[in-house]
Amino acid sequence: MEIIKEGPKGVTEEGRKVATDRCVEYKEAIQDYIDAKKNIPCGLDLNGQYESNKTRILSVLKAGEHEWNDWKWQVRNQIRDVATLAKIIPLFKDEFDQIKKVEKEVRWGISPYYVSLIDPDDPFCPVRMQSVPSIQEALDSSIVTEPETILYNSPAPCITRLYPDRLIINVTNACSMFCRHCLRRRDIGSENVLYARESIKEAIAYIKQNTEIRDVLLTGGDALMVSDEYLDWILSELDGIDHIEIKRIGTRTPVVLPMRITDELCEMLEKHGTVYLNTQFNHSREVTEASAKAVEKLTKAGVQVGNQTVLLKGINDNKHVMKKLMQDSLKIRVRPYYIFHCKKLEGIRHFRAHIEDGLNIMEYLRGYTSGMAVPTYIITAPAGRGKTPVNPNYILNTNVDGQVLFRTWGGHVMKYDNER
Ligand code: SF4
Repeated sequence: MEIIKEGPKGVTEEGRKVATDRCVEYKEAIQDYIDAKKNIPCGLDLNGQYESNKTRILSVLKAGEHEWNDWKWQVRNQIRDVATLAKIIPLFKDEFDQIKKVEKEVRWGISPYYVSLIDPDDPFCPVRMQSVPSIQEALDSSIVTEPETILYNSPAPCITRLYPDRLIINVTNACSMFCRHCLRRRDIGSENVLYARESIKEAIAYIKQNTEIRDVLLTGGDALMVSDEYLDWILSELDGIDHIEIKRIGTRTPVVLPMRITDELCEMLEKHGTVYLNTQFNHSREVTEASAKAVEKLTKAGVQVGNQTVLLKGINDNKHVMKKLMQDSLKIRVRPYYIFHCKKLEGIRHFRAHIEDGLNIMEYLRGYTSGMAVPTYIITAPAGRGKTPVNPNYILNTNVDGQVLFRTWGGHVMKYDNER
């Protein structure tokens, strides 16, 4: 092979000059982000703070490193009483009584691991806002529910079906951390339940009878709150159905309980061929060493990990924060998949941003960062009519003298020849 010293041929001096000018434009286009991102911490850089929080939590819970790394200990020791929480992080004025008020209406619980990610001095810490109940939940007395989603989309026990070729099996309502913005807070109820094998068998029978189903998502609650053995059984049943091509797992454990991703779990998942896992990182602060290790194990077992962020007011409804999250998640091999617009449901309306905010974020992602860091922005249609993508519009006119008029990510208006 010939070695050419100056790289690919054909670039003229004038071409080099144009390219250099364009590069100045590119740099200017992201200068605001380069300045802003210095103030958006990534969990990978906060190890010292997290370790010191962990030491404090372990001393309150009278436990050691061994227990901390045991996911079952984490679940058993989920922090769900305000007195214990107050020993771990300072509560702000009236917060003790406010949490007491909220817990009469809806349960809360935080894994010790996830509490360790809270900045104790910041009342607006994004981890705190997602996990510690806020009085806003109790103040929202409107009854905004979506009964049709459940009523009209469950053709068999444990199944939710909204699309032609895929469906959901709900395996449990349990979660290791009850996210304050949870869209399924009504299903979470007041007690953990595991759906019985008989119900799951009926769900499997439905899938066998409907050969157009090729993709099954196991979720809950959190699908990884069930035992490895139970999950292995369901996945084996699905493996036995010829028309099932892929299995998916919906879980927030890589974010809120990364110790759940054990070697044994990964060995079991590896046996089941094409398994995808979708999780929910909502802020760079959640992208930690522990999460990175969990994702690495999954990846080595052949499980691809995607991220379904929820657009949350005060947490990530900022174009720089969202871009940093997309870039930080890619650093640990988590591929951005969706940004969900938060639904209008009772108790979570204070987390809602406007659709315009989401569109602005999308506008600022496309072209300004790698395409892999650009997820699809989704609104969930009412009455269980499914996910609907909403995107900034780049086409200005589909026919201007046979050409399509469009704008580029950078704002250049151009024509595209649409003729064959
Ligand atoms: S892990 Fe998922 S289902 Fe569980 S509380 Fe959080 S958002 Fe809801």
